[in-house]
Amino acid sequence: MENAVGALYVRETFAGESKRMVSDLISKIQKAYVETLEELSWMDTPSKEKAREKVKSMAKIFNQGRGSYWRCQTTSLEDNNQKLDQEYAHLNFSEEHYFENILENLKSEAHKSLKKLREPVDPDLWIIGAAVVNAFYSPNRNQIVFPAGILQPPFFSKHQHQALNFGGIGMVIGHEITHGFDDNGRNFDKDGNMLNWWSNYSSEHFKEQSQCMVQQYGNFNWKLAGGQNVSGISTLGENIADNGGVRQAYKAYLKWVEMEGEEPQLPGLDLNHKQLFFLNFAQVSVVWCLYRPEYASQSIKTDSQQVLGSLQNFEAFSEAFQCQKGSPMNPEQKCRVW
Ligand SMILES: [Zn+2]
Repeated sequence: MENAVGALYVRETFAGESKRMVSDLISKIQKAYVETLEELSWMDTPSKEKAREKVKSMAKIFNQGRGSYWRCQTTSLEDNNQKLDQEYAHLNFSEEHYFENILENLKSEAHKSLKKLREPVDPDLWIIGAAVVNAFYSPNRNQIVFPAGILQPPFFSKHQHQALNFGGIGMVIGHEITHGFDDNGRNFDKDGNMLNWWSNYSSEHFKEQSQCMVQQYGNFNWKLAGGQNVSGISTLGENIADNGGVRQAYKAYLKWVEMEGEEPQLPGLDLNHKQLFFLNFAQVSVVWCLYRPEYASQSIKTDSQQVLGSLQNFEAFSEAFQCQKGSPMNPEQKCRVW
């Protein structure tokens, strides 16, 4: 009952002003994505232009209005309560029958989605509830979605250092944006239609660049799973998103430092601002991957690799922590798509 839970959550806990701050962060990271495109030699100019258009027309959705129902527009509390009552009116819940309650819920969800068939797409409709600690990209809407639940520490706080905010929610924003350009998202255009906007040249090279990550991640294995290897193919979209996300967030953070100046060191921690960025990236990755449905459904094999792979590929990490070339976190061969 995510709409009901979401409404209660937002009423109880949500600090509204974070929306403006995170919205500003999103713009900064969209900009960083556009600038990063210029560094890529595997993509030709016409495809870059299309990618630029796509990232610029990405819609930002915040699931966190005052009454927080399924629309972005703020409605009155009474309105919302009424809508919530309507939504759940036909559900027959009982306090004794847990399993049957779940079936009721599944049935009603199925009804709801079937009713949308042949209806025009409503771009304002929330694809997830507000009380969720996660973020999403919807390829057929070209939309990034941030529920109220993820706009809290360690991901984000207006009271914590920007190094932590960029390494936290900033990296999540970059991750979701990059999903628009992973092996699945790239098949959709700026309006969310399945349409090939790639030149043959760029498309071929995209596959080549991705193949490097398929190999790299396919070599990770997880001791707890009896030494099984990660599937580099089924985790490719997440890995492309992680690698692009951390790079864009870092770029945007350096730019922020350039404008606003370096923040003071945190007391008791012998870490500079660049190291703090990566520290929070690692920290939120642990929180985050535990909650991601795409991870849950694929088995937890990918949990720790999220941090390892994308940092092995990122030269800025090795610089920040002085990792010797050829050491495990700074391998000679690096993969990069975005
Ligand atoms: Zn993802």
